[in-house]
Amino acid sequence: MARSAAEKGIALLGIADHGPGMPIAVPKNYFNNVRMLPRELYGVKMMFGCEVNILDYNGSIDLDEKALGRIDYAVASFHKPCFKAGTIAQNTQAYLGAMANPYVQIIGHPDESDFPVDYEVLVCAAKEHHVLLEVNSESFHPRCARKDCRNNYLRMLELCKKHQVSIIVDSDAHCEVDVGNHSRAHEFLAEVDFPERLIANRSLEAAAEFIPFLKRMLAGELTLMDAAI
Ligand SMILES: [Zn+2]
Repeated sequence: MARSAAEKGIALLGIADHGPGMPIAVPKNYFNNVRMLPRELYGVKMMFGCEVNILDYNGSIDLDEKALGRIDYAVASFHKPCFKAGTIAQNTQAYLGAMANPYVQIIGHPDESDFPVDYEVLVCAAKEHHVLLEVNSESFHPRCARKDCRNNYLRMLELCKKHQVSIIVDSDAHCEVDVGNHSRAHEFLAEVDFPERLIANRSLEAAAEFIPFLKRMLAGELTLMDAAI
């Protein structure tokens, strides 16, 4: 993945493996040990996070505080094996609970009609908690199983513009060919005339405003333990 990122001229690559609640996930102990991984590979700065699973309507997630303290960032998402869809109010409450968790910096693919949410509440809470909302490029791919993503993103992005809330664009790459492939998301953002200044990963510095680990990485403040190579 890092080599592919290097070939594509990507400066920073975040890898967020699925949290341990997913049937295909890496073991929980992986997240306790990511600090042993290199901070730079093939000239690409590396960050290792987790796409944690939201488990219930309180927003509980499937990684404990010890592991959350060791990873670089956390994306919190609904996935069908781990979360039973509720009412709009229950699903929205689940996102709010996850966003209140100080270890969560990103809400992953909030775009699926099987998990309906109140987008105005979600967007305002993202602003309040300084959490990014993901625009997932894979969601626009015809093979994607998530339903009605375009309509849901249309609604979410209108509200992000209205309330000046930032998003993060990513590939959701599950293999090296898709690393950095944001094209479908960017096409959609252009269609809806979404302002670039609200895209957090338009630059490392802008993304660092939302991801404390990245801020420390850019400032050169990581300790040897943090940056174990
Ligand atoms: Zn996901």
